[in-house]
Order: sequence, then C-alpha cells, then structure tokens
Amino acid sequence: MPTKDRNLPSVVVRRENEVLMFDCGEGTQKQMVLSKIGFNKKMKIFITHMHGDHVLGLPGMLQSMSLLGRSKELDVYGPQGIRDFVESVNRTVQFQLVFPLRIREVGPGTVLDDAYYEIKAASANHVVPCLSYGLVEKPKPGRFNPKRAQTLGVPKGPLWKKLQLGQDVKIRGRIVKSSDVVGSPRPGAKLVYAVDTRPCSAVRRLAVNADLLIHDGSFDDSMRDKAKEYGHSTASEAASLGRQAKVKQLVLMHISAMYSNPRVLLRQARRIHRRTAIASDLMITEVKASN
Ligand SMILES: [Zn+2]
Ligand SMILES: [Zn+2]
Repeated sequence: MPTKDRNLPSVVVRRENEVLMFDCGEGTQKQMVLSKIGFNKKMKIFITHMHGDHVLGLPGMLQSMSLLGRSKELDVYGPQGIRDFVESVNRTVQFQLVFPLRIREVGPGTVLDDAYYEIKAASANHVVPCLSYGLVEKPKPGRFNPKRAQTLGVPKGPLWKKLQLGQDVKIRGRIVKSSDVVGSPRPGAKLVYAVDTRPCSAVRRLAVNADLLIHDGSFDDSMRDKAKEYGHSTASEAASLGRQAKVKQLVLMHISAMYSNPRVLLRQARRIHRRTAIASDLMITEVKASN
C-alpha cells in the first residue's frame, strides 16, 4: 500500500547511458518525471513477481512512452505471467505502442549477458514465484597512462589503442609492454535487489560481497510471524543475511504501510549490520565497486 510518504516499489539504476529498472509499482512514471530520468532512454525493466504492487505501474508507463513517441526498443524481463499481463492489458486498453517492446519470461540464472555487466536472477522465497536480481559489472580495464606512454617513446595514435587493448608494441626496436602503461583491471560494482522474500540461501549466494543489497525489510522483529506468513523479512532477518553475505551497504525496502516512521526497523537492523539505511522515495545512492 502507498502511504502519505511512500510510493510503491521501483528502483532505477543509471549506468552509463542506460536505465535499468527493477519493478514498476503504480505511480513509478510520476517518480520518473520527478527524478528527470526520461522516457526515451536505452532501458531495460526487470520485474520480480506478478503481485500488483510490483507491476501495476508498467501499463501506465508504457502508455506514456508511446504518447511521448519513444523510439528506442524496450526490454521487459520477468517471471512467467509477465507476457500475458502486458499483452492482455494492451489488448483491452490498446496502448498503440510506437516502439518495439520485447518481453522475456525468465527464471533463475543469468538472464542477461551484456558486454559490461550481467544480470543474474535467483529464486526468492515468497508466496508466489519471485525472482531477486543481481547486477554484476564485469571488471573494467585498467587506466591508460598517456604521459607514461609518451615518456616511453610511443606516439599518440594506433599504437596507443594496441596498448589499451592489452597488446605489447615495438617501437624503434624496443618492446613497450601494455602493462607498463595500463593499470591493473578494476573490479566492477555489484548490486542486488531482493524484495518480497524471506531470507533464503539463494538470495544470500546472489548477494555475496555486493556493494549494495536492497532487501525486503517489511516488518520489525516483533512481527516475525507475520513476515513468515506473508513471505517477507524482518529488519533483523535482512541485516543477518546482509552480514552473512558480507555486503558493503544494506538498504531495507518494501516497508509495511503500518510504519509511518521506520526508525524502529533501522535500529533493529543496525545492531546486526551497521551500514544499513532505509529506502525513502527518490533516494539516490551511488554504488561504487570496492577494491
Ligand atoms: Zn509480493
Ligand atoms: Zn510487494
């Protein structure tokens, strides 16, 4: 349920020139306007499960994208049922989509292997089939040091490119190694989005060493039985999982509407995982790879 201060779940990752959205609760498009994300970006959407609070924002957003004349294709990933959902709304409401929409029903495993990152899914433990997603960046090449290349006598041009690609070059009978001018590879960042789930081993494995874990923290510890019954987690359960998985930063999300002030959740979680925050609407966090 939305509250006076909180809307329904959606997380957007801005990565280079691409937008990766996780879930699309009702009202997400309004939040996109407020955060100036734009409706014609290169974009992919990942839906965790087919509960209304996670998907009902999708039809409205697709409609707006069409009205605004989106031209870029859009990929929607989700569990079984996502295709039927989008197609049946489109049949009755007739979005008249003006851009290519590709829907992919996916399960646990690697759901996307991009040149720079992978999206991995794990089976969450909820009352209906539900996926948690991990965005795992591939290591980035080391930084090229142009000054050093020049000092070593390599002129700017095609030889620089070779060095950047890891190849050694020969200049005036002398070998200049790529490793002389290019630093060691830099690790990529890892972000995991796991809402509407009990703490479970599949999510824990997915989250190992994540720079940011966004985890279900629907209830405080006194509501443990309710969390179990509805397939959610308490603040302490989320924090324990975050600690076991050695995540650098934990953000609790999907806070029950019964908490107008979620401070109690934060207190309970921080006893177990110090670097915990509570998600708030339009909150921005920079995710950096740790060395
Ligand atoms: Zn749910
Ligand atoms: Zn939910």
